[in-house]
Amino acid sequence: MEKKDKSEGLTRRAFIKTIGLAGIASIGLDVDNGALGSEPPGDGKGPLPRRRLGKTGVEVPVLSLGGMFDTINNQLLLRQSLDWGVNFWDTAELYGNGSSEEGYGRFLTRNPDARKQLFIATKLHHYEPEALTEGLDKALKRLCTDYVDLFSVHCITDFSAIAAPKKYRDWASGAKKAGKIKFFGFSSHTNMEDCMLDAAKTEWIDAIMFSYNFRLMHTQKMKEAVVACAEKGIGLIAIKTQGGGQIKTDSEAELQLAGRFLERGFTDKQAKIKAIMENPHISSICSQMPSVTILSANVAALRDQTPLTRSDFELLERFSAETHSSYCAGCGRICHEAVGGAAPVSEVMRCLMYYRDYGERDLAREVYAGLPLEARARLTQIDYSPAEKACPQRLAISKLMREASEILV
Ligand code: SF4
Repeated sequence: MEKKDKSEGLTRRAFIKTIGLAGIASIGLDVDNGALGSEPPGDGKGPLPRRRLGKTGVEVPVLSLGGMFDTINNQLLLRQSLDWGVNFWDTAELYGNGSSEEGYGRFLTRNPDARKQLFIATKLHHYEPEALTEGLDKALKRLCTDYVDLFSVHCITDFSAIAAPKKYRDWASGAKKAGKIKFFGFSSHTNMEDCMLDAAKTEWIDAIMFSYNFRLMHTQKMKEAVVACAEKGIGLIAIKTQGGGQIKTDSEAELQLAGRFLERGFTDKQAKIKAIMENPHISSICSQMPSVTILSANVAALRDQTPLTRSDFELLERFSAETHSSYCAGCGRICHEAVGGAAPVSEVMRCLMYYRDYGERDLAREVYAGLPLEARARLTQIDYSPAEKACPQRLAISKLMREASEILV
């Protein structure tokens, strides 16, 4: 019987097919007990590729470690990622209420020499700049370091929130002068394209972490946003890269997709990240990798330089079209306006994604609890039919909001 990693759906056979039996032997990795090795997995030649992060000039690995997992008790995974060239680690105050940062801090305390090898990014929510200084100091304490390489304001839905009137620009410049941050940017899962297009009109954003995957990469607006940022020298880091949705599907389309890519020698999950890296404007894929199996599969996929074919891309596009109504594309302005601002639909959708696709129930509930009380209270009282009509993904918004109000409390 096939042994299956529940979190990623990667079968033992698929994993072995990916890195090869010789690969397993050479890296000394035992899939069952997670024993570790130092040679990077995969048939690809050379180390994990690196790309320049925009105008920062820093070369970062094409794969970065998302810290939305128990980093405190996964110190060996952190060591393994570093050994395999994944030396860009991302975290946020929100992840585990600071415990993700603490896990990185524990690693740095035990391995002080590792600091200069690492590119560390953290994110804080959209506080007033004065509060950001205090928040950053606390984050640095948890991380056991005196600077972060990239500091981002978390979850920006409208760039004007940090652009006017120069408050954040001045704050970023002060934090850089104080040596507490090297680069400044923001993350966005909602209205990403608008945020990016607006940021590209300015000079002071170094990098953006934004939702980007096989479902989002083909729209004209996203293409324009990516090019505008790249031309401005803004480093681009893709997040939410698997395109997992708010509704768990075990559809025939999904099985077919997996089968087709296995014939090509990789899993569908590997194909999804390879598709992103075919865009030269993307510097790194930030991926949640809570196990060595997933880390290994991702490193193997990105060391392998075999390009996806046109029919691979068509397959992904077809799958995206067939499953569109299970995925919220983050175009929150559309549904927000359709319900007269009465409900933060796209934010609730993100909580559902954490809950169902990531299996991160605590995080989902934490983010949901952070939404305004009045908005949560009226979530089931609203007529969502105008939003459902306007939604380009044709999501069953009313039903999903009802489900969210039941499972996220
Ligand atoms: S619910 Fe629909 S309109 Fe709203 S953000 Fe998601 S995809 Fe866009």
